Amino acid sequence: QNLPYFAVGEIVKGFGRGSKQLGIATANYPPSVVQLLPKNLENGVYYGFASVNKEDVHKMVMSIGWNPFYNNTERSMETHILHNFQRDLYGEELRVCILGYIRPQRDYNTIEELIKAINSDIEYADKKLNDPDYDVFKNHTFFK
Ligand code: ADP
Ligand code: MG
Repeated sequence: QNLPYFAVGEIVKGFGRGSKQLGIATANYPPSVVQLLPKNLENGVYYGFASVNKEDVHKMVMSIGWNPFYNNTERSMETHILHNFQRDLYGEELRVCILGYIRPQRDYNTIEELIKAINSDIEYADKKLNDPDYDVFKNHTFFK
């Protein structure tokens, strides 16, 4: 009922949990952007579209949860863009349009389980976002 949800903000340093090495880098928003989220938007994993510095629009998956960087007192929005950027994106402008909910957040016992879950989220989002019903968001003036 809160979706689609649009957000704009700078990409900042996250907790540095080394997700980049695992091929699942997540671009983090600062608290000022996260605080604008509707309070009744559930934590969990979402899919949608994203752009960096108003360049091409790509598919994305986003995890909304509690941010260990702020002792779990602030929420976090972490976006993995389904595109192979050949550079770091810190300081650049991230635009996202959140379109759908995939699953609640879970605790994983092993990193392998976590990676498996994220990869299946990515696969799900990749298929789902091919639906021509979503073209209107991919081509939205928000991204122009
Ligand atoms: P951090 O803890 O600082 O967020 P990560 O390991 O999660 O570190 O890596 C995130 C950084 O990787 C992003 O801020 C961005 O600069 C870069 N990056 C490169 N490719 C991507 C991508 N496809 N999606 C998201 N971030 C990416
Ligand atoms: Mg990150």
